[in-house]
Amino acid sequence: MKRNLFLKILAGYLIFLAIGFLVILTFTSTKTYTYLEKETATDLYLEAKTLSDGYVSDYYSNRISLSDVKNILSALDTYLDASIWIVDTKGDILIASSATTYGSIEFFSIEDFGTSYYQIGTFYGLLNEKSLTVYAPIVSGYKISGYVLIHKSVSSITAYGDGFLNIAHLTFIFILLLGLLPLAALLLGILRPIKKIKKGVDSYAAGKFDYRIDLSPTDELGYLAASLEHMASRLGTQEEDQRKFIANVSHDFRSPLTSIRGYIQAIMDGTIPPELHEKYLTVVLNETDRLNKLTEGMLELSKYGTKGALLDVSDFDINQIIKQTVLSFEGTCLKRRISFQLILTNTELFVRGDMSKIQQVLYNLIDNAIKFSHADSTITIETTVRNDKVFVSVKDTGIGIPKESLKKIFERFYKTDLSRGKDKKGTGLGLAIVKEIIQAHGENINVISTEGVGSEFIFTLPLTNLPL
Ligand code: ADP
Repeated sequence: MKRNLFLKILAGYLIFLAIGFLVILTFTSTKTYTYLEKETATDLYLEAKTLSDGYVSDYYSNRISLSDVKNILSALDTYLDASIWIVDTKGDILIASSATTYGSIEFFSIEDFGTSYYQIGTFYGLLNEKSLTVYAPIVSGYKISGYVLIHKSVSSITAYGDGFLNIAHLTFIFILLLGLLPLAALLLGILRPIKKIKKGVDSYAAGKFDYRIDLSPTDELGYLAASLEHMASRLGTQEEDQRKFIANVSHDFRSPLTSIRGYIQAIMDGTIPPELHEKYLTVVLNETDRLNKLTEGMLELSKYGTKGALLDVSDFDINQIIKQTVLSFEGTCLKRRISFQLILTNTELFVRGDMSKIQQVLYNLIDNAIKFSHADSTITIETTVRNDKVFVSVKDTGIGIPKESLKKIFERFYKTDLSRGKDKKGTGLGLAIVKEIIQAHGENINVISTEGVGSEFIFTLPLTNLPL
């Protein structure tokens, strides 16, 4: 993986390098040569103009001799590295800076220059190589009597440009080489943590969720490593939870099954005499009831997956549901002389939610309150409204919940040691179901409890806009 990424970045850099070079070789050189041609043409034109206005004009008006002009031209030829001709309007070469070129320019016409003061070529085939030619007219007595022509070979201009471009190429290469240093540092700075992260991910894939990637979260990669560690630790606890869950399920199913098997075997082999059969078959029946309850509870819980259960939402009167649920416990309460106190806000209090599921929540909470209450006590159920929320509280003055158990009572199969003796039929699933239902509604449930004093469970529901 490391090599792959490294090669990709390096390849990208090399492609950038090649494109950069291509741009310098084509675009930049063309621009440089054109610029140099124009500059040289302007310079040479100024020279030609100075000549036509000065020495050549002087010669035409017989102020200096031909040999003087020739000397000046040949000196200028050497200085400019260009040949200079004086021609008349018909194209006859009158004077040339280099002695070899004399004669007539066939088909000479100054109009061939067009609107420009220079042209590039071999000038009517007279020059050996491609040259830049500028002209300046010689005016004497208000009329053009000839032209000063200066030719400079294009190769000498490009040679000058090449010198500049070579410097540009070298600078470019130098910058690129220098750029390799931070690139290498950056790559190393990225590749090393990536290697560490990969090792961590491999460990998590192999189930080692406690592996530490060991990257300080100072940049994006550090944060990524921290997120992965967090994810792994959650996966780890989930795996642990699942193990615990299976252990609890097995335990809770095994104990009733063992007792059922024991009693039936004892009945069959005659250990339990026929007159006691009914008594022990009732115990067996109770145990099968418990198994039934367990299965139902688990089926209910399985509805609440990660996506939550589908709710059949409607607006309903929570006060009405509370009264209805309380009524269904009348028989049990009468036996233990437990009474209910209902402190309900308004006569009707409309909330939004899944009515039958909320009824199940109330049923489980009231069932627990009764189970863990002492005889002759009161259970208080209260509804209050605060900030568009209805708070429903179920409060008892029973055995209470030990502080260390408070966090765990909503876990599946959890029962406090206090309750084990009091409630043999309990599955430890009731509150887990309550919590799932309330969470599926996007609401909260809390518990306040003191051991030996009592417990209060409070959950919220959204108040609807219906008139109170
Ligand atoms: P169970 O079916 O055993 O009642 P729950 O999930 O409803 O299962 O409750 C889990 C445990 O929480 C109970 O076994 C009990 O120890 C404790 N608990 C729940 N409600 C109360 C309460 N009102 N008073 C005291 N303990 C409670």
